[in-house]
Amino acid sequence: MRIFFPAKPQRSIAPETATSGVQKLQPRFLQRGSFRSDGPAIYLLLISRDHGVDMRPQATRSRATCPRLTTKLRHKNFKTAWRSSASLAIGSKSESGSKMYDYCIIGGGIVGLAAAMALQERMPGASIVILEKEPELARHQTGHNSGVIHAGIYYAPGSLKAKLCREGAEATKRFCTENRIPFETCGKLLVATDHAEMQRMEALEDRARQNDIDYARLSTAQLRTDEPNIAGLGALFVHSTGIVDYAIVCRAMARAIETGGGEIRRGTAVKAIHEHEKGVRIESASGPVEARRLIACAGLQSDRIALMAGVKISHRIVPFRGEYYALPASKAKVTQRLIYPIPDPDLPFLGIHLTRTIDGGMTVGPNAVLGFSREGYAKGSFAIADVASMTTFPGFWKMARRNWRSAISEFANSASRARYLAECRKYCPSLTIDDLQSPQAGIRAQAVMDDGSLVHDFLFKQTERMLHVCNAPSPAATSAIPIGRMIVDRMLEGEATKAPAAPEHARAPSVLAGPV
Ligand SMILES: Cc1cc2nc3c(=O)[nH]c(=O)nc-3n(C[C@H](O)[C@H](O)[C@H](O)COP(=O)(O)OP(=O)(O)OC[C@H]3O[C@@H](n4cnc5c(N)ncnc54)[C@H](O)[C@@H]3O)c2cc1C
Repeated sequence: MRIFFPAKPQRSIAPETATSGVQKLQPRFLQRGSFRSDGPAIYLLLISRDHGVDMRPQATRSRATCPRLTTKLRHKNFKTAWRSSASLAIGSKSESGSKMYDYCIIGGGIVGLAAAMALQERMPGASIVILEKEPELARHQTGHNSGVIHAGIYYAPGSLKAKLCREGAEATKRFCTENRIPFETCGKLLVATDHAEMQRMEALEDRARQNDIDYARLSTAQLRTDEPNIAGLGALFVHSTGIVDYAIVCRAMARAIETGGGEIRRGTAVKAIHEHEKGVRIESASGPVEARRLIACAGLQSDRIALMAGVKISHRIVPFRGEYYALPASKAKVTQRLIYPIPDPDLPFLGIHLTRTIDGGMTVGPNAVLGFSREGYAKGSFAIADVASMTTFPGFWKMARRNWRSAISEFANSASRARYLAECRKYCPSLTIDDLQSPQAGIRAQAVMDDGSLVHDFLFKQTERMLHVCNAPSPAATSAIPIGRMIVDRMLEGEATKAPAAPEHARAPSVLAGPV
């Protein structure tokens, strides 16, 4: 092992400016085994037994894509990073002789990818492998969502969800700008169509103020002037809401991870997990993988992955289908902004909204109807294993008893386009039945506790060497970048990052649910 300290303290060293001797090594060796802290201006190259040298091309890049680590954090993580880099240089093979990764991440959705980016940012030199069962990334929730960059108006002031959403919206827009990913800050209107909704709109306005969200209140006349095709008694206009294609965001994240030396194995389903005293052994479709630590971000399969790893959980994932229709090209400009109803506190999800898409289209939806298949997107999809795991879970029946009215109404809306249309026409009367074209769906992983309550906040389960993200609810796509950092904080520090006064999972908020 060789340790190299540059004579002169430097704040950052780009790969091109590193020592010429190191530069002569083949790029494939330039992947592992270094730590650099730009706080105390130490630049350290560890040349490990297998001659891997890390010059962290991504380190300079990640500084561009992510806000600077605070000095405090850099110093706090120095010891951990030192220990990790040193152990990595000393022993990077498992007992069986196969490669021992520092971190294995299950799941190539936006949360898994953001966690990998945060690891590379915080632990330069750590070896990371992501296992994704599908041939492409973002095939499930991340690639089937509304594509909205939420502003965070709905969440309880001071809550973790509110903080992450706000930070996440900014981080997402910054990431898109830096990676030339198209996005648009088109704003969103929350439209009240009757007096009950006007009252709820006032509660929402209060929340917007407390959450420090930039908004404007529109009268009936102003609403008509701004959006002639939208009818309502009044509206709140949230300026900072935007739109993006999260699958494109994921592709850029994957490029950054791979350029930084991370490995992404697509088409690699995890089949078994065994935690042992030195790390975690993961049996996958492409053979066993050994890692010192495991982070599981498996979305719709997160409960199965946790159970597979022997983690005790008191919830199950229940799939909720969010069904959309695409409007025809002639109606793609029916509104300039996104149009949302005022959320109903009796319903666990938001109502059907009109959403512009970044490719110039317009969708209407989604509803939230109980699904019978976690990954079956076609209408009527049914998977016996998914139905069995749902119906043998007592929490499911308790949830069903509590929410049967809204469940029936959602099933009816799903079965009848006319009923679905009636929901949309409340605020967009010009829509006709023929406008509801090309049905498509996303499926939300909803964690339900054994007492039947829906989990509306993050739910983590942690063991000595594993962290399972058991619930990453909407707007987890917006908040993914800070969620990734939070996951890594938990992993590194072994302690929960909690919002003030928030329990590990916050049950259904009394007033408003999270947006979809
Ligand atoms: C209809 C709908 C609309 C939404 N709209 C928005 C929105 O507008 N804005 C917003 O911010 N959020 C929105 N959300 C929420 C957001 O999309 C999700 O919270 C977020 O995408 C979750 O990301 P994830 O990485 O946790 O899960 P996923 O994207 O589901 O990724 C999990 C990954 O794990 C993989 N995996 C599972 N099992 C295994 C295994 N055994 N081995 C290997 N890999 C495995 C899966 O294949 C998958 O790729 C919406 C969600 C839905 C369903």
